[in-house]
Amino acid sequence: MKSNINIYYSLDALEKYLLQNKFSKVFILTDTNTRKHCYPLLSTILSKPILITIKAGEESKNMQSAEKIWEVLNQNHADKNSLLINLGGGMITDLGGFAASIYKRGISFIHLPTTVMSMCDAAIGGKTAINFDSIKNNIGTINLPKATFVHFDFLKTLPNRELKNGLAEIIKHCILQQKIKWLITILDEKELSDMDWKTLILQSIKYKSKIVSEDLNEVGNRKLLNFGHTIGHAIESYFQSQKTKKLLHGEAIAVGMWIEIIISNLCLQYSAIKANELFDIIEFYFGYKKLDAKTKNALIPLLQHDKKNKFDLINFTLLQKDGTPKYDCLISSSVIIHAINFY
Ligand code: NAD
Repeated sequence: MKSNINIYYSLDALEKYLLQNKFSKVFILTDTNTRKHCYPLLSTILSKPILITIKAGEESKNMQSAEKIWEVLNQNHADKNSLLINLGGGMITDLGGFAASIYKRGISFIHLPTTVMSMCDAAIGGKTAINFDSIKNNIGTINLPKATFVHFDFLKTLPNRELKNGLAEIIKHCILQQKIKWLITILDEKELSDMDWKTLILQSIKYKSKIVSEDLNEVGNRKLLNFGHTIGHAIESYFQSQKTKKLLHGEAIAVGMWIEIIISNLCLQYSAIKANELFDIIEFYFGYKKLDAKTKNALIPLLQHDKKNKFDLINFTLLQKDGTPKYDCLISSSVIIHAINFY
């Protein structure tokens, strides 16, 4: 059975949606940055929503923030007919989606993504999560938002590093669809601020929403989207626990894709020529992130927590000889260590 992924591309559509659905109370979750930069754009649409604001940053994607949301919902007598609007990047859509999914066994929520990352990925597909015990996305649900409203003007205030962060998921979607030539044409070695973000994001949304609508619970093709994320999440978790050097999700995924391309070459004979072409694209935008011995050693224990593992083997989505992706590739730690050292 296909799941309905409802995506709209204007604030007018949001206004209409709110008029059509008579919610008893409307809450809006922002982080400190989206409250400042994005919330003012909604002032004509929302009449007196109850604001919940969380400190910006991945460190806030945790249980304490979820509790803060539930406390505000309780204090304002939210009921089953209340709506939570998640206005922000993936941190807010993951956190808000999670909090709404389990509050009173589930209230309605919608996403208004404000970063490239959330427009092309996090706000599409219903995966919600918080980080727990230093493990990325350790606790969460799969629960679709009632709708996602993509408003490209939000990107005008997004810093360059955050624009680039979202590019990692766009590159991933293009690798999975074997649309690298298309990607190279659109990117054309352009500066981040000159890129055709709308075209890139729309193409990603189209691909991801099709996959998710056919496999919401990730028993088949949705697993393909995990490419780059097995290693990427371990790297992200490691840097998150270090407190000093912060690595954004997309920056971690860029390294994750690089190492998983090496594993693809080692285990599935993915072409070295194509691999080098992909390394060039990743390096052009993300540079080469050097991993020291301490970081490398920390990765295997973190990989062992991955939700996708079976037995003692680590589960990957990899690229095959003909370039097509394959999910459920079970790889031993020794091969992974070899690839990490080769990186
Ligand atoms: P983020 O939500 O932390 O946003 C990045 C930064 O940009 C923050 O400082 C934020 O305050 C700021 N910001 C957001 N919108 C802005 C705007 N319009 N103008 C100015 N500043 C703005 O991070 P992100 O990269 O959007 O998302 C990363 C998170 O998404 C991670 O937790 C990752 O695990 C999650 N994610 C989830 C999925 C999923 O399927 N659920 C997919 C991909 C990523």
